[in-house]
Amino acid sequence: MPEPTDMLANNRQWAHDVSSRDPDFFNRLARQQTPDCLWIGCSDSRVPATQIVDVPPGEIFVHRNIANQVIHSDLNCQSVIQFAVDVLKIRHILICGHYGCSGIAAAAENERHGLVDHWLRHLTDLFESHQELLDSVADDRSRSQLQSELGVIKQVSNIATTVTVRDAWQRGQELSIHGWVYDVADGLVKDLQVTLGPDSDDKAVISNAIAIAARTARSENQSCP
Ligand code: ZN
Repeated sequence: MPEPTDMLANNRQWAHDVSSRDPDFFNRLARQQTPDCLWIGCSDSRVPATQIVDVPPGEIFVHRNIANQVIHSDLNCQSVIQFAVDVLKIRHILICGHYGCSGIAAAAENERHGLVDHWLRHLTDLFESHQELLDSVADDRSRSQLQSELGVIKQVSNIATTVTVRDAWQRGQELSIHGWVYDVADGLVKDLQVTLGPDSDDKAVISNAIAIAARTARSENQSCP
């Protein structure tokens, strides 16, 4: 595990390597950022936004929190969305959850974890509202993956109902919301087919995405011995 002094040395080497390959790289970035995407992901150390989709600095505006949640009363996340949409004029909001999320696991279990339980309560409520569906998946891993996916689908819905996004769509601004989930076991990102835009039938898209996620969880469940 690298120490902070090692990280500073790594940074100097990285900056040197980047400049060697592209001498104007930092000059360009220093002038301004023009990202096309806002990434909302989990704080988990295994899910670094730019690295897993292989894009350089300057391409993605990033917000991360425990279990990648978009809560309407969270001034931090709501400000990030508003700044990204209204000021940076990003065209895509990517909400990316991941399998094996400890935040999702903590929200799903009946144990106390301290202050963070307030933050996770939104997910606990979500899982309770899908209790019948989750109970129908006997395999623990498949159920946990379904919970991650339900979390993402819910956040897509939450983003679509923010004042910022509603206003953007109303004035004709190009903007779409995508729900993805990352598998830490193989490094692959899956599109949960819950993309929303100004003209989409949000309820139909969301219920369809939930149905696909449920079908997948149940079929994996059946294939288990
Ligand atoms: Zn996580």
